Amino acid sequence: MDLCPNCNIGLDREWDICPNCSQALSPEAIKQAGGPRSRDDRFAANVAWYFHTIPFITALIAAVFADSAVQNSSALVRLLFPPICLILGGFAGLLILKGIAEITEKKN
Ligand SMILES: [Zn+2]
Repeated sequence: MDLCPNCNIGLDREWDICPNCSQALSPEAIKQAGGPRSRDDRFAANVAWYFHTIPFITALIAAVFADSAVQNSSALVRLLFPPICLILGGFAGLLILKGIAEITEKKN
């Protein structure tokens, strides 16, 4: 009889996964479960949380500047320009955050 490599209970040949500890037993089950998780793939996960506020700050600054820049323009420009700058400012902040994350990753 085979034994589970993790918890040492007796195993049926048909089983792909140990019913006691969920250890993957067959090569197919191991492939399905995936290898060991090496690193976190979330965006800029290697930098501290306050760096992630950069896009919000740049977006708000861009919107405020855009709003003051078009005070004396037509209604349509005043309606459209600040929100566009909000989006572009947020995107610029994401690029800054990406740059910081890449620099930090090289150092480590
Ligand atoms: Zn087990």
